[in-house]
Parts: sequence; structure tokens; C-alpha cells
Amino acid sequence: MNYHVMTLFPEMVESTLNSSITGRAIEKGIIKLNTVNIRDYAQNRYKHVDDYIYGGGSGMLIQAEPVWLCYQDIMKQLDKSKTRVLYMSPQGRTFDQTMAKALSHNENIVFLCGHYEGIDERAIELINPVHVSLGDYVLTGGELPAIVMIDAISRLIHGVLGSDDSAVYETFYDGLLEYPQYTRPAEYEGLKVPDVLLSGNHKIIEKWRLEESLKRTKERRPDLYEKYISQGLH
Ligand code: SAM
Repeated sequence: MNYHVMTLFPEMVESTLNSSITGRAIEKGIIKLNTVNIRDYAQNRYKHVDDYIYGGGSGMLIQAEPVWLCYQDIMKQLDKSKTRVLYMSPQGRTFDQTMAKALSHNENIVFLCGHYEGIDERAIELINPVHVSLGDYVLTGGELPAIVMIDAISRLIHGVLGSDDSAVYETFYDGLLEYPQYTRPAEYEGLKVPDVLLSGNHKIIEKWRLEESLKRTKERRPDLYEKYISQGLH
């Protein structure tokens, strides 16, 4: 998987993703991170990329030209049919695990990160990306959403986690929240690990885990529970 991030703050994206699990996956070459600074495509000597907004209003907008030139430069090297282009936008469809899974099958994903008041609409029109939101709130830039999405997608790529099972049994994977988990010691502050988990009987453990997942999902996310039940997955 090759990620290309168009941003005014490449160091923000790199410093986070070069750490921990994604950092190791980058080192091993399982995923590749290419951050591209939109400012490098500014055509003026001061490298300005933002300007006032026509019609008035507060704040500045990223101009169309550097964004469009940057995008074209990235796309020159990529096979369009194997590439998804995403615009980080609070106006987009909300990112979720289903989207992460679908995106994990691409060869290339280009993330366009806005900043300030956003990007001149003509760049968006020319690029025609899929608008994706992290949630119903407004952030200062698209970098954090891109980082979050890259993290979520990468965990689903073979070899990124120690074991592929880690992702299979997690919250949202099958539409349910994950069951409670425990590690040593078997008793802490008077609280004991449920006996069933110490039984060594994998069949009973699996049954217990499913029941706990159902119980927890019903309590915490009744919307997901209803969906799961209505799909006849239980
Ligand atoms: N004026 C824009 C609007 O009202 O839709 C918001 C601009 S926001 C301050 C600056 C940039 O942050 C956006 O261009 C987008 O790239 C990013 N951004 C902000 N909130 C986001 C969210 N919830 N999901 C994804 N990207 C977001």
C-alpha cells in the first residue's frame, strides 16, 4: 500500500506515522508513506499558497493552483485505476471500519489535506476526490484525519500487525464491540479474571466471548446491535 499525503504540514504526518506499529510497517516496506508539501508547488517567490476569500468572510483559503499542480505531479507516477483520491473534509461521508476495509485493497491512496478555511473549490472540482470526514466536528486541518485513516487502514493490511487475527477479533470487525479482555495477574485488587478464560476450553471461551460482545454492544451501541440482529448474524 502506498499512501501519498498532500499537505502543508508534512512533518506532522510523518512524525506520527513513523512511530510505533505504522513506523515498523514503513521500515519493513509493507506500507509506504510519501508526504508532498503543497507549498513546493507555489508559483510565487514568497511561496504563498493562501489568499483572501472572494465575497468576504474571515480566514484564508488555499489557492487552487498549488493544489492542482501538486496533485498532477503525484498522479504522473500512479496507475489511476489502482488509486483512490480522498479529500479530508467535514462535509464528507463519515469514515468507519467498513470504509477502512474497502480502502485497504487499493494499491495507492492519495489524501488531500485542507487547512485554514479549506481549499479553493476549483481545485476540488478538477481533482474530483471522494470527500471523507472523520466526524461531525471541524478540525484545523486534514492532517489528523489522514493520520487516523492511514492508521486504521494499515492495521488491516497483512503483515502490519503481529497476527492477522488481532484485527479479525476486534471491535467493529464483525459489527460487534469486542468482549472484555484480561492479562496477568489472574486477580487484581480483589477483581478476578472470569474462570472460563482460565479453563483452557476454547469452545467455551469462544461462546463466552460472543455472549459478552453481544451484551456489551446492546448496552453501549444499541444502533450496532439492532443492525447486527436485523442482518440475522447472531
Ligand atoms: N470551512 C470548512 C467547512 O466549513 O467545511 C472547514 C475548513 S477546516 C477549518 C480546514 C480543513 O480541515 C478542511 O479543509 C479539511 O481538510 C480539514 N477538516 C476539518 N474538519 C474535518 C473533519 N471532520 N474531517 C476531515 N477533515 C476535516
